[in-house]
Amino acid sequence: MSINKSKYQELLTELDGKAILVAVSKTKSVEDILELYNLGQRDFGENYVQELTEKYEQLPKDIRWHFIGHLQSNKVKTIASFIHLIHGVDSFSLLKEIDKQAAKNNRVIDCLLQVHIAKEETKFGLDSNELGLILHSGELDQLKNIRITGLMGMASFTTNEALIRSEFNFLKDLYDANAQPPTPNFQLSILSMGMSSDYPIALSAGSTMVRIGSLLFGERNYHG
Ligand SMILES: *Cc1c(COP(=O)(O)O)cnc(C)c1O
Repeated sequence: MSINKSKYQELLTELDGKAILVAVSKTKSVEDILELYNLGQRDFGENYVQELTEKYEQLPKDIRWHFIGHLQSNKVKTIASFIHLIHGVDSFSLLKEIDKQAAKNNRVIDCLLQVHIAKEETKFGLDSNELGLILHSGELDQLKNIRITGLMGMASFTTNEALIRSEFNFLKDLYDANAQPPTPNFQLSILSMGMSSDYPIALSAGSTMVRIGSLLFGERNYHG
């Protein structure tokens, strides 16, 4: 399987610098990733720690790796030295573990809080109450080695565009409502929403970062 170069160029034109493209390369080979890399792509997203680590070791070091899957606390240390952005943070305890491992690596790790916006039971994420509890927890200030830079969400897997749009609008409203006041480790600038099937809706709802896999790399034939 080879990458879709014309789709890549089309996407870049469509995004027009207003949203960052994260190329979701889970299950895809290092050769496919390099093909896109050679066209200038630097942001890549992966869902599985082991797969990400193997690819990190084999690929150029100026790639910005995004972790977009569900991260288990005991796996944080594996990626803490190099991860660029962790999209799916959905608990305070995970945030604390990321802070601890970031400190051991003398760095600050940027994180997005994942909000549950889909009407489906299966998707991970915080509800708006839980989000408020994390953002207004007095403890957040003490986590000097993380920075919350935005929110992330996944819409329902459906062909109902009105439903998808309302879910993305809900996340955008939460994002706007929580934008103030920024502190050293809380500075919202990223709204990560939109995948191959729904990114145009996400962009019109205010997405600043889209995560796109199958449109670029073709359909996946195993997990994910
Ligand atoms: C797999 C995945 C994507 C990309 O999905 P496509 O439909 O292939 O674009 C985006 N976000 C997350 C969280 C994913 O797991």
